[in-house]
Amino acid sequence: MLLKDVGICVGRKEYSETSQIATIFTRHQGKIRGIAKGARRAKSKFGGGIELLSRGQLVFSPGRGSGLLTLTEWTAQENYLGLRRDLQQLYRAYYLAELVDLFTEEQDRHEQLYDFFDRSLADLSEGRGWAEFLVFQIRLLQEVGLSPQLWSCVRCGKGSRGRAVGYISFSEGGILCRGCAREVSEKGRISPAGLEIVRKLSSHAPRSPANEPTYKQGEADGAVLEDEDSRGAQKLLSYWVRAALNREPKTARLLH
Ligand SMILES: [Zn+2]
Repeated sequence: MLLKDVGICVGRKEYSETSQIATIFTRHQGKIRGIAKGARRAKSKFGGGIELLSRGQLVFSPGRGSGLLTLTEWTAQENYLGLRRDLQQLYRAYYLAELVDLFTEEQDRHEQLYDFFDRSLADLSEGRGWAEFLVFQIRLLQEVGLSPQLWSCVRCGKGSRGRAVGYISFSEGGILCRGCAREVSEKGRISPAGLEIVRKLSSHAPRSPANEPTYKQGEADGAVLEDEDSRGAQKLLSYWVRAALNREPKTARLLH
């Protein structure tokens, strides 16, 4: 049996002189990893190969359980061309792609997240700023159930305003007031302005009672964020991601 889907390539490596292994975040099947035999030949059913950060239609045989599938066809539809002309946006897109790969399970379906990813790559490709980059990270964490608690100290419940908050801890589940932070060893410093931004962007994607994030696309559009505050927000999210994964994503170094 063969399946058709649409997907975005989030990882690839050469497999032999003519073949490649691609990780594709598909709309209906979630993330899949498959071998595309002969993909790198010019006249193949893969149009010369599957490019990282491109969207296309694919055909594959699902196989059983998780593991390497067989890709049989790929027709590129969208290359987010603007990314190839702007290194900063390209690096941001690499980072988001790696996060999608690291935080989703194979063949675990995330249709809304897929649509949002497609949209976010288009936004980055058009040169949009911090808001779109940050909000995708926040929504990804919400989707996989790993959002930090940002509204009050997770230990004492103290409402957190401005200077009272100083830290975030993954093992504790969210932000800590300065007093409670003294008793916790796994923690990262956060800036009040960075926290404010992450809070604001988080509230664009409130969770419904069914625990499904509702994505209101476009709400981050046009939000102009100060560079330094945005770096603070990114620092908070980067800390959280690193602690959740217990390692640094490979592309994180490109963000600096
Ligand atoms: Zn506290």
